[in-house]
Amino acid sequence: MRGGLSSLALAAGVTVAAAQSSGSLSDGQDGPWSISGTTYSVVIGKSVLDRDTGLPPQALLSAIVTWLSQRVGLPDTAQLPRVAFVTNKEMDAVRYPEATERQLAGSGVQVLSLYDTTEDTILLPKEWTGSSVAELSMLVHEMVHHLQAVGNPRYGCPEEREALAYDAQQKWLEQFGTDLAEQFGIDGLTLIVRTHCLM
Ligand SMILES: [Zn+2]
Repeated sequence: MRGGLSSLALAAGVTVAAAQSSGSLSDGQDGPWSISGTTYSVVIGKSVLDRDTGLPPQALLSAIVTWLSQRVGLPDTAQLPRVAFVTNKEMDAVRYPEATERQLAGSGVQVLSLYDTTEDTILLPKEWTGSSVAELSMLVHEMVHHLQAVGNPRYGCPEEREALAYDAQQKWLEQFGTDLAEQFGIDGLTLIVRTHCLM
C-alpha cells in the first residue's frame, strides 16, 4: 500500500466549488466558438460528448492542451488522460486528505471534478456534457493537473498546484465574460486560501 502518497497526489487534483453555485451563461455566447490557437470549435449549449464513446473527444482534449500551452505555458504534449464519469457519491468516496481542499472550502461543498494522478484519469460528474463554459472550464482545470503530472514539476504543497489550475480556469471563463466567482462562487480570498501553502 502506498496510500499516503497516492492520496496526496489525488488531493492535488481536486476541484471544489460551492454547492449552491450552478452558474448560468450570459446570452450571445452560442457559437460555434473556436478554441483560440486551434481549429476545434464548441457550440455553447450543446453536448461535446462523442456519440459513439460517450466521452469528450480526443480532439477536444488536444485542443485544450494547445490552448493551455499558449495561455499558461504548460507543455504541449500528445499524451492525453483518460476520462471517466462518476456519481457524486463515487466522487466523494475518492480518498484525499481532509486537511486539503475539502476542509479549506468549508462544509456543504460538493467536489465537482477530480484528477486521479495514479490512474492518469480525469473524473467528471455523470451529468457533465461540456455544454456550458462552466463545465468546459472544469475540464480545463483538470487538464492542467494532467499536464502537471506529465511534466512532473515539483510544488511546495498541493495548494501551489491549484494556483495554475485556477489561473487557467479563470482565463478560460474570462473569454466568455464570466469568472470563478460568478460560475463557482469562488471569490478572491477563497482563491488565495486554496492556492497558497498554509504552513
Ligand atoms: Zn485542482
